[in-house]
Formats: sequence, structure tokens, C-alpha cells
Amino acid sequence: MADHDAEEGDGRNGSLGFETRAIRGGGEPTAEVGGAGDVVSPIHLASTFAAGRIEDPTAGYSYSRLGNPTRDALEDRLAALEDADRGMAFASGTAAITCFCLATLEPGDHVLAFDSLYGGTRVLFDDLLSGFGIEIEYVDATDPGIVADAMIPETALLWMETPTNPLLKLCDIEALARLAEDGETLLAVDNTFASPSCQQPLALGADAVVYSTTKFLNGHSDSVGGAVLTSDDALAEGVEFVQTYGVGAMLAPFDCYLTLRGIKTLPVRMAQHERNARRIASYLQDEPRVQRVNYPGLESHPQHDLAARQMDGFGGVVSFEIDGGVEEARTLLGELKLFSVAVSLGSVESLIEHPVSMSASYVPEAERRAAGITDSLLRIPVGIENPEDLVADLKGGFEAL
Ligand SMILES: *Cc1c(COP(=O)(O)O)cnc(C)c1O
Repeated sequence: MADHDAEEGDGRNGSLGFETRAIRGGGEPTAEVGGAGDVVSPIHLASTFAAGRIEDPTAGYSYSRLGNPTRDALEDRLAALEDADRGMAFASGTAAITCFCLATLEPGDHVLAFDSLYGGTRVLFDDLLSGFGIEIEYVDATDPGIVADAMIPETALLWMETPTNPLLKLCDIEALARLAEDGETLLAVDNTFASPSCQQPLALGADAVVYSTTKFLNGHSDSVGGAVLTSDDALAEGVEFVQTYGVGAMLAPFDCYLTLRGIKTLPVRMAQHERNARRIASYLQDEPRVQRVNYPGLESHPQHDLAARQMDGFGGVVSFEIDGGVEEARTLLGELKLFSVAVSLGSVESLIEHPVSMSASYVPEAERRAAGITDSLLRIPVGIENPEDLVADLKGGFEAL
């Protein structure tokens, strides 16, 4: 269960607990209204800012692409969540990944990436980044020894996710950070699946953390956004330069507001996501028509010990295989009433998706099979509804099979 009480105050994340930082981290809103102060950060929609003093026209905010008070409030909050020196808020998780890669890689560089990455990141790496003369190699990063063996002098970046989508595989962030310790190689972790509530890669030695804030951080399926957090100043400056002067991929003020609002309840949402995910995983384990359940919180998960050591809670995503194939999987989806059939994850409402028909449909069949994505695999990002309602809905679905 995500429970931060025991962990905080030990210096790992500064003096305030995670729940407090989710609400107050990075400073207070400062706008004054009639002598009183805003309790909630206001939404600054202005694209340009009038100079306060004509003698010094560049002091303060000037143009919203370069800096915006609502975005600053979100970026400071994001940084505070992981005790990072810098946070940057992007128009999407994809924009965050692209800007990070453009800032850190050059032609001739070699990237070692987990062979179980988010599909969109694979497209970005294979169809965009490789065109810039960057070599991408995918390895089974569940074993840090395999990553170590694949490293070459040109390896500039280790790109990792943990747990991964949709099979919930893990990699050992501390062990990978040791491989990247030489200063020549960066370790970046896409921490979208775990969220900073469950896992803090910077504290485990990563150089940078990347998020799709679309998922758990915003948590309400009503904003697409991304983030990069780091305590490496030079790295932060490079990424910010690409973001503001190169790609222009910053998060709009209204979405900054929504994400700030979402973050306040991240710790309580994560606790309920996990409680429900555990309940559903244990129900699925006992369901005779289920062949296999993937959830790091289960003792049957091959990397359960690593999950217990590295994570603070096991997250809110469960995947499973049922008896049968595509037809049975689709029949089950059609019977469910409390799960929306949809991609994405990390929101208050429970979703379900069939990777072979949806998120992984563009992956060639042989590659899909090699990756372990079978025809009857289903993925549930568990919401925060009443868990018994969710289990009853699943039971009804299985009875119709
Ligand atoms: C959704 C997701 C992304 C992409 O983020 P967008 O906000 O959709 O651009 C990247 N990584 C992971 C793990 C994701 O789940």
C-alpha cells in the first residue's frame, strides 16, 4: 500500500512528507486580490506581459512561451514531488521525450532502451530519432547484466521504464544508475506507470525522470501533458532551451492549472488505485478462466522482491491473459459496464484495453508474440471506484464467456 508516513522525514525527500509536498511543494500562490491572497494558483492566460519598469523591460515575465506564472507554479510543484532542482512542463509526454532526446543526443550516439517500452516511445525512437543518426538498441533490461554487456563507448543514454506496459516488467533503477555512473552515459526513467507517489527514480540515482502527466499525475482524463525533472543544471538548461526556443512544446496555462489540481490528490488516489488493483489482481488469480495475472504486488510476479524494494506501493495497473483468443477477449470487453474500453491509464475511472486490437495493433504479429503480448492479453488501469463493484462487473463478464 502506498504509505509514505514511514519514509518521509528521513531526508530522502527533504523535510516535508510527500502528501504535504503534493499540496504545498514549490511554494505558495502569491497573487493578491483586494489585500487578500489566492489559496489556489490563478490561471495566467496572457501570452505577453507588460513591462513593470521601462528602465528594465526584461525583468520578470515577458512572453508566455518563455515563462508563465501558472506553468512556473506547476513546474515548482513537480520538482518538489521528487526533490528535484528543476521541473519542466510539456504539451505532452511525447513532447517531453522528444525535447529530452534532442537536448541530450547527437549523431553517432547509441541509446540502450528497455525492449518493453511504451509503444509511442518506440515509434518516436525508430521513426524519428534514428533519422538523426542515432542508433537505438533494445535490450531485456530486467537483467542489468544484459544492459552492461550491451554498453559501448558511444552509449550516451539508457532509456528505461519500470513497470512497463502492458506486461508490468521491472528494471532495477539503482543497478542501472551504477552502470551510468561514469558521467558519459545518462540514465533517464519514464516513471509514468508508477508515478512519483510509488517510485522516485532521482533518489535511486537516475539523471532525469520523464512523465506523461496525462496519466496518474493529472489523473482525471482531461489533460494531455508531460514533464521532465532533474537536478543536473546543465541538463535542465539544455532541455529547457529545446523546449522554449526549439520545439515550443510547453504546457498551456489551463492544463497547468488542471495538473496542479490533480497532483494535490495524487497520494490519496494512488492509495485507492493500489487497494483496488490488489483486489482485482487477487480475484483474477482465483478466476478459473484466467491463465496468468501480471501485477508487481503479487508474490507470483517474478520481480516481486525488486518491486517491494524499489517501489513504495505497487501501482494501479494489472494485466492478464484469459482462456481463448481475440474473440473471447472482445466478448469479455463487451460485457463490462464499469470499465470503459479505452487506451491511456492513471485516471479515476477504470478502463480496460485489448493490446492486440488497440495499443499494440500496429506492432507486427511476430514482434508482438516475441514481446509476450498474446491475443488474449487484457490490461486494466484500475480506477478508484468501489472495488467490490469492479470485481462484480468482471465476474459478470466472465460468466458470459
Ligand atoms: C502515455 C505515455 C507516454 C506518452 O505520453 P503522452 O502524454 O500521451 O504524449 C509516454 N510514456 C508512457 C509510459 C506512457 O504511458
